[in-house]
Amino acid sequence: MSSVHPSTRVLRVALLGCGNVGTQVARLLATQGAELSARIGAPVELAGIAVRRLGRERDLDVDPGLFTTDAHALVTAGDIDVVVEVIGGIEPARSLVLAALEHGASVVSANKALLAEDGGTLFAAAEKAARDLYYEAAVAGAIPILRPLRESLAGDRVRRVTGIVNGTTNFVLDKMTTTGAGFSEALEEAQRLGYAEADPTADVEGFDAAAKAAILASLAFHTRVVTGDVHREGISDVTATDVASAAQMGCVVKLLALCDLVGTDEGPAVSARVHPAMIPLGHPLASVHGAYNAVFVESESAGQLMFYGPGAGGAPTASAVLGDLVTVGRHRLEGVTGAREQTHAQCDLLPMGDTLTRYHIAIDVEDRTGVLAAVATEFTRHGVSIQAVRQEGRGDDAQLVVVTHRAPDSALSSTVAGLREMDMVRDVGSVMRVEGEPE
Ligand code: NAP
Repeated sequence: MSSVHPSTRVLRVALLGCGNVGTQVARLLATQGAELSARIGAPVELAGIAVRRLGRERDLDVDPGLFTTDAHALVTAGDIDVVVEVIGGIEPARSLVLAALEHGASVVSANKALLAEDGGTLFAAAEKAARDLYYEAAVAGAIPILRPLRESLAGDRVRRVTGIVNGTTNFVLDKMTTTGAGFSEALEEAQRLGYAEADPTADVEGFDAAAKAAILASLAFHTRVVTGDVHREGISDVTATDVASAAQMGCVVKLLALCDLVGTDEGPAVSARVHPAMIPLGHPLASVHGAYNAVFVESESAGQLMFYGPGAGGAPTASAVLGDLVTVGRHRLEGVTGAREQTHAQCDLLPMGDTLTRYHIAIDVEDRTGVLAAVATEFTRHGVSIQAVRQEGRGDDAQLVVVTHRAPDSALSSTVAGLREMDMVRDVGSVMRVEGEPE
């Protein structure tokens, strides 16, 4: 494998994208270039910046001659050592990353959507080209979590990874918890403060978190997991009542990315899901407020590990990108590549219906004799055992609040469907999974 241009020993970097993240990467390269160069062991030179619109106003003091709209020409010029891809989305990012690897560059990317959808193709291309493909910034922004999973915990058996990996939804749910606001009101505030996009679908419907869950599960369990494998539910149906019910149980509602290694009759299987859930206030993830992110890892030997910090934002994300750049740059100088993804375990993916979960269900019922017994029978009919039940209110306000033991998710959802059919049930008001609690 050839090492970086021995005649000059300058590390030439091409930046693809100069938006929120790219601007900060370019700024830090300009202002801290000498320090970064010292850490890498060779001068770093920004060779070009590919953007979509040349005329766009940018708050950045770099040579205007560096900008180009021809990203393909930049990455295929043959004199680039590291391509930093911060365009986002699937295309043209995928083609550009593949072209960069083919033309001898290593790649640093922050692109969760691309890595989670087609990481396999990119990793194979990196392997073939004997180049690095690093993407720490793709999950939880500044928080170092991918390298710990891939390298630090490579000697352990990770059992579960639970993450709050989307700052927008955490901000919205936190607002609902602290103020009693409904979903729409909390989302509007998030938009006003810049924590949510004008079109918040990718965040609130859990698409962003599902891509991150796929990446986390792949690394934690040495199995290729793609976005489509992840069960996904967003937070747009979470109500102020759900949040109040959680508080009554000593819990808080969070949008969680849950990645588990579970034993089945056929061997170990991977479950990856994103949905809102109640977690006890004493759980480390319960104290993650505002737009912060955190990832809680449970492994056989290390036990419980908590990673916490800013999960987005130009400068925090640029920190992760530049960390990768330093590592990849050192590898280029030494003519080596770093640790790669491992998919040797190739565990089966557990369907959501077979995943064991617990439900909290608030049922509006008629206030008459025999209701509790009839409701309990409906749970038994589906093989679901009740952990706790309490009655609230009387007359027209009578409500049964049931928390179940763990059961296959399909059994729990058929129980809810069965309850909705019962004459004495007026409404099944709040249904939410409960996580993070010992039974
Ligand atoms: P952004 O602000 O939308 O910036 C995208 C940049 O890509 C813009 O500079 C745009 O050019 C350029 N671009 C778009 N299409 C292009 C094309 N065909 N050719 C060349 N350049 C093109 O995005 P961002 O927020 O910086 O996010 C970048 C990546 O980082 C995404 O993968 C995202 O998921 C990831 N990420 C972001 C954050 C965050 O907090 N923002 C956190 C973690 C990870 P113009 O400037 O000319 O429009």
